[in-house]
Amino acid sequence: MYKIHKTTKEWLLDLLFPKFCVGCETEGLFLCETCKTGLLTRTLTPVCPVCSFRNGTGAVCKPCRKKTALSRLVAVFPYQEKAARELLHIYKYNRVREMGPMLTEFLTAHVQNWRVPFSRTMIVVPIPLHRARRRERGFNQSEEIGKQFAEAVGLLYRDDVLERTSYTQSQVECADFRERRKNISGVFSAREAPEIRHKTIMLVDDIATSRSTMDEAARVLKEAGVKSVWGVVIARG
Ligand SMILES: [Zn+2]
Ligand SMILES: [Zn+2]
Repeated sequence: MYKIHKTTKEWLLDLLFPKFCVGCETEGLFLCETCKTGLLTRTLTPVCPVCSFRNGTGAVCKPCRKKTALSRLVAVFPYQEKAARELLHIYKYNRVREMGPMLTEFLTAHVQNWRVPFSRTMIVVPIPLHRARRRERGFNQSEEIGKQFAEAVGLLYRDDVLERTSYTQSQVECADFRERRKNISGVFSAREAPEIRHKTIMLVDDIATSRSTMDEAARVLKEAGVKSVWGVVIARG
């Protein structure tokens, strides 16, 4: 999948901005083969996102359903995992686009390993950034991961059904749980499109430090007629 021969531009970029492994600081790649193998042994067993019951499916158990609009949440790595966190950080803030396919590969493999039972009629939707923030950052990492993930598993991708209508402080900067909930409430709006009515949406985000963003997006989508919402994220707090 990865190109073996470097173009002159890639060669120059490597020379000007050498890459160091986030695990062992060896020069050459953002994640060397050894650290990649190690990281892949530290993926998460899917749990109920509310009570953390290790069900191996990520499904929300019956008593927990009143506490979240999500039906399922699957996360690849724990947020405490330094290497995963740093890869996401480099991707988001240094806009290293090549990180996308690697992270998507981790997500796709995880979903397949755990046999997450998605069906062909499900639609992949990324957690949107506010238009101003997207312009500021140049891209939305969740869109990129979502698009590549949808392609890898053969699902429809839509980034025009959910919109972030207010410009909020990023969730990571906002430490207090209650603050986060208040902060996120009312920031999304969903389009009542016939294409999403009665469908199951797979929401994609890079990080879920708490469940509040996913919960709020799921709530708004269900209000717009979506049947159920599953979440998939690279890292979870
Ligand atoms: Zn390494
Ligand atoms: Zn539960």
